[in-house]
Amino acid sequence: GEDERCDDVLVQSNRGEAAMSTATKGRLAGKNAIITGGAGGIGLETSILFANEGANVLMADISGPALEKAKAKVLQLVPNASKVETTICDVSKEDQVKSMIESLDAWGGLDVIFNNAGIMHAQDDDAVGTPEAIWDLTMSINVKGVWFGCKHAVESFRRNKKNKTSVINTASVVALVGSATPQLAYTASKGAVLALTRELAIVHARDGYRFNNLCPAPLNTPLLQDWLGDDKPKRARREIHFPTGRFGEAVEQAQAVLFLASDEASFVNGHDMVVDGGMTKAYVTPE
Ligand code: NAD
Repeated sequence: GEDERCDDVLVQSNRGEAAMSTATKGRLAGKNAIITGGAGGIGLETSILFANEGANVLMADISGPALEKAKAKVLQLVPNASKVETTICDVSKEDQVKSMIESLDAWGGLDVIFNNAGIMHAQDDDAVGTPEAIWDLTMSINVKGVWFGCKHAVESFRRNKKNKTSVINTASVVALVGSATPQLAYTASKGAVLALTRELAIVHARDGYRFNNLCPAPLNTPLLQDWLGDDKPKRARREIHFPTGRFGEAVEQAQAVLFLASDEASFVNGHDMVVDGGMTKAYVTPE
């Protein structure tokens, strides 16, 4: 009953203290993690934090050369990382996602997956201007890619008899608030991520598989910054909406992902973790 549950929590917190006193093994010690879109932006910063907190990390990306550079950066910043490997994977191809996740059976099975790979296409536009091919491409990576990651994660958790796992999916603030600078396919795709993650959180709550969303606001990453380029008005049009007056940094997203991945977040499930400097809560921002 109630008392037993209390004892359980106490025992767990005592165990936590014991672990801290013996060694600072890290908040993800012993966990096997996959990060998709691991070669850039949020995925790379998350790979660095995960490795630094003791996880075994498999960085996955569609770009092989970018992956090699990213891995070198992780190892340079975290020379005592326990395991950092890379794999080329197009998340929109189910066979590739399946074999990537199955490859972690050799490590003892997947514990954490960050389904983070996503695209925002330059031709993505409003209802009239978005080409159908761009709609389909965006959906196949941003939505189907996340579904495949979740699907094969669940199969892996079952196969490896895991009951304390975490799935984090990258949505966006545009899944929560409308933007007058449209990218309709992208917005729709992130709304789908938000909804599918929420449902999976409920379906699998009693399995011990947690599912949470990350909703980043516009960041200083290549995805957005390449697109804004030197266009100052286009940039200012967005910066004015930040109470803080600035875009976010990828590492600020990664810190939230680290929390969601760790057992510290053991009672956080089906949550939309909005990391936006207050942007989605603002009416008029400071001058
Ligand atoms: P990024 O472009 O720096 O990194 C994305 C990575 O995904 C790249 O390394 C790219 O090679 C990889 N990728 C693209 N297609 C892939 C595929 N089919 N399979 C596997 N990997 C693929 O971008 P980022 O800003 O770090 O974006 C990460 C996630 O955050 C995306 O889902 C994006 O939509 C989301 N997001 C970004 C912002 C932002 O402002 N940067 C805001 C909100 C949400």
